[in-house]
Order: sequence, then C-alpha cells, then structure tokens
Amino acid sequence: MVALKQTSTHSSSEIEHKPTGETNASKPVAGSEGLAFPTTVVAPPPAKDKLRIRWAYTLSIVVIHLLAVAAALPWFFSWTGVIACFLGLYVFGTLGINVGFHRLLTHRGFACSKFVERSLALLGVCCLQEGPGRWVAIHRQHHQHSDEQPDPHSPLVAFFWGHVGWLLVSNTATDSMSLYERYARDLMKQRFYMQLERQLNWLWVYVAHAAIIAAVTFGIGWAITRDVSAAAKLTASMIVWGVLLRTVLVWHITWSVNSLSHLFGYQSHDTGENSRNNWLVALISNGEGWHNNHHADPRSAAHGHKWYELDVSYLSIVAMEKLGLATKVMRHDR
Ligand SMILES: [Zn+2]
Ligand SMILES: [Zn+2]
Repeated sequence: MVALKQTSTHSSSEIEHKPTGETNASKPVAGSEGLAFPTTVVAPPPAKDKLRIRWAYTLSIVVIHLLAVAAALPWFFSWTGVIACFLGLYVFGTLGINVGFHRLLTHRGFACSKFVERSLALLGVCCLQEGPGRWVAIHRQHHQHSDEQPDPHSPLVAFFWGHVGWLLVSNTATDSMSLYERYARDLMKQRFYMQLERQLNWLWVYVAHAAIIAAVTFGIGWAITRDVSAAAKLTASMIVWGVLLRTVLVWHITWSVNSLSHLFGYQSHDTGENSRNNWLVALISNGEGWHNNHHADPRSAAHGHKWYELDVSYLSIVAMEKLGLATKVMRHDR
C-alpha cells in the first residue's frame, strides 16, 4: 500500500479498497508496459439485461451531439467561440470535473474553503454530468468494484458500454437512493449538495450558465458593433462552440477515462483490475489518463507518478496551493 505524505480527515463513505486476494475480472501483470487488451469480459450490471432505456438521457445526449455538429458550419464560426471552447475545456472540464468533482469531492485529495469547494463544484455542474452527489457516488462505486460486475461502467462489458452506454439504460444498482446513502453520505448531509440533486437543480444550473454566457456575449457584441444581427450571430457562435461543443468534448474526455483508460495503456502498479495509464487520455484530459496510478493511490492529488507523466490538473492544484486556495495536498510517495 502506498503511503501518503500527509493525512487528513476522511469521510466514512469514502471509497473502500479491495481486500487482498479478491477475485477480479482481469488480472494485470505488475509493471507491464505497452498496449494490452483484456481477454476477460465481465457481466453488465443486472438492470442492463432488461434494457430499460433512459429516454431523457439518451435523447439529450443525441440532441446535444447533433447541435454541437453545427460548429462545422462556417456561419457559426468565430475565433471568440473557438477560444471560449478551449478556455471552457480547462475552466469547466479540468477545474470543475477533474479538480472539483474528482480529486476534491470524491477523493479529498486536498482541502480548501467551502467557497472554493462549492465554486469548483458549480463549475463541474456546468459540464452536464449530473449533480456532484451522484457523480461522486458512482465514481466511488467504480473504485470499490473496478472491472467487476457491480462496476457501473466497466468497458470489459463492452467498449460502448463503458464509454456511454451505461448512461443510457436504467441500472437498479445506481438508480436508487441507497447509492447516495452508501457512497456520498458526506456530501448529501450538506444542504448545498442535497439541493443540487433535488428536482434536477443541477440541470437548471447548466441552463443558467448557458443563458448567462449568451446574455453577456450578446451585450458585449452589441456594445462593440451596435448591430443586433452581428451580436446575435456572435451569440449563436458562442453557444455552439463555447457551450454545446465544449460540453460534448468534456463528455467524451471524461468518458474516455472510463473506457480507454480501462482498456489500453501500461500498468505501473498491480491494482488487481484493468486500469491503465493512457498517454492520449492523459493529454486530452489534463492528467486523468494516468488512471492506473490513480487506482493504485486514489487519495493522491497527483495522478502522474513519473516525471514524464504530465498532470495539468495536479499542477492546477499546486497553483491553488501557492495562492493559498488549497491546503493538505495529498502527494504520491514514491
Ligand atoms: Zn477507473
Ligand atoms: Zn477516482
């Protein structure tokens, strides 16, 4: 077991580690390098057999993908929109999902003020990946049962299942209140996170952030051009590039951690499941692709364990530490 340089209080609902010798779907070889594909397939969660499709999720995901394709039309192009898209990948994807939802709320890899924590959580909500309570609960369940039958999104069922399929069908193991009770009790006892889960409030936060981006863009566009149609065109570009396309890209980046990083890449640690260090996923996700390292040492805020394993999300936490916004940063003890 890898030791950590610092210790901090830890929730009772934090992830549990597998006992030594527990059976796993795939047995990786410690220290193996290079590409590998698992030969073992695990069974999907029980409710998948019934194929009860979650139509609201399925249609939303399909429609937002189709709307994002509008970015390919020249009419929607603007450099403002392109810059907003790439800036949004970092602000909402890296700071919101990687630093906020994942390394802070799920694993408590560092400590910070409630204001900073909730700000990061709201940035994550703007990625349309459900509320932080459910995201955290599902991810802790994934860590506890990685690549075994209760894993909500193991790609050992099928690549598509691990990538996005698991979101499209109902799953009795994750669609009940007991999920929150078992895996996210620390968050759910806080009014802020409970409210975000209730009545799809996380969805309304997403809609509100898009509306604010649209209103600000239109206001600035009109102030500069004094032309309503030009301001409207810029606003449309901003929505397509800066909100819809960015949302789709962050989805696939997050989903790639679940799918590609449990199928392809090298293993530096014998974690007893199929997690991999995948440089491509690490590059596009700003560090989340060092997933085998992460499974070996989930509490560490640093997912890159070697000097060449660039982890921009961790560097962001270090920057927050230097600015006095983060403390008790958990580091991997080589
Ligand atoms: Zn994993
Ligand atoms: Zn994790």
